[in-house]
Amino acid sequence: MTDKRRLEDLAIFGGNAAFGEALHVGRPNIGDRGRLLGRINQSLDTKWLTNNGPLVQELEHTISEMMGVRHCIAVCNATVGLEIAAQATGLSGEVIVPSFTFVATAHALLWQGIVPIFCDVDERTHNIDPGQVERLITPRTTGIVGVHLWGRPCDVKGLEEIARKHDLRLLFDAAHAFGCSHEGTMIGNNGDAEVFSFHATKFVNAFEGGAIVTNDGGLADDMRLMRNFGFAGYDKILRIGTNGKMNEVSAAMGLTSLESLDAFVATNHRNYERYEQNLAGVPGIHLAPYASDERCNYQYVILEIDRDMTRLSRDRLQEILWAENVLARRYFYPGCHRMEPYVSSPAQSVLSLPNTEYLALRVLCLPTGMDVNVGEVDRVCDVIRVAVAYGDEINERLDHLVARGTIN
Ligand SMILES: *Cc1c(COP(=O)(O)O)cnc(C)c1O
Repeated sequence: MTDKRRLEDLAIFGGNAAFGEALHVGRPNIGDRGRLLGRINQSLDTKWLTNNGPLVQELEHTISEMMGVRHCIAVCNATVGLEIAAQATGLSGEVIVPSFTFVATAHALLWQGIVPIFCDVDERTHNIDPGQVERLITPRTTGIVGVHLWGRPCDVKGLEEIARKHDLRLLFDAAHAFGCSHEGTMIGNNGDAEVFSFHATKFVNAFEGGAIVTNDGGLADDMRLMRNFGFAGYDKILRIGTNGKMNEVSAAMGLTSLESLDAFVATNHRNYERYEQNLAGVPGIHLAPYASDERCNYQYVILEIDRDMTRLSRDRLQEILWAENVLARRYFYPGCHRMEPYVSSPAQSVLSLPNTEYLALRVLCLPTGMDVNVGEVDRVCDVIRVAVAYGDEINERLDHLVARGTIN
């Protein structure tokens, strides 16, 4: 094990890397392998591999119960889930979304010819700012898609009020917020519908998968049809649809993940607290907090770096960590509005999103999950502590290396 105390101990300056094997963000959590394989065998035995099979139905039922929500429609991934929810709620024209999110939130809209209009976030919560939403409403606006970033609920009440006042539809991208609550109610019960992701990197996974949840029965019926080409019987098509079905192997993984949900959350929580304790005294560094009186999944450990205090930019800290084999990630840099095709679209050019740009330069996502233990968290924190302690010196040395063309 390496001990990081001095500048020379850092791998970027020739020290031994803190980790022999890469420490990843979003390494898949895998539940009980025996239970998973049992379920897959069951599916192979019955030869019911997809098309609303028994495992998909069981997954939907389990999620509905957990969330206390009336309807759950399992889908092949959250992006298609968002597309189906957008179609089913009649979104068109312009829809207001935060820019500080995974790009799928915006792509799901534009893929269907709906123009995402990017809204700034609150610098404290990282979530869409309802105060800014209202200013972006035009006669073409049909809805709002809120995102519960990092699993921290966005201002649901504020958005609901605006949606009601302006007669807009309201969806939530809840890809990060599975198993989280807001004011005592499970996420999944807000707006017209909410969409979860069970992608392999999410803390509950189904290899690929997602779920749309809603308390609106009419909407649920429509979305079920849309998920399966609009089929209402063996040869009866009622409407346009797509192929958004979840297969049985994914449902088997989803159900198996849910059985371990408490263990996943407990590990994430333990790691989060360990990071928090270790980094408490480091000037200019703090972790995005979770509400202790709500249910949280703690799946993202989000470091905020105040460059004026650390003397070290987020990008330099990331370079230092990568040299140690700690693959910390710049989620969600640089913000959707700075990516193609949005950055080149005239609709976006008038927007100013200062909080999004501020956060996109200061946030770093650290490794956690079932594959990260507290000893590893301690070693990651040692690197951060040394890096910040020698901020100015590190800058000088790295500037020198950049000037010599040794590094970028
Ligand atoms: C992961 C993610 C998605 C996309 O989910 P998929 O299941 O991979 O399609 C959408 N929005 C956010 C915020 C995400 O993090």
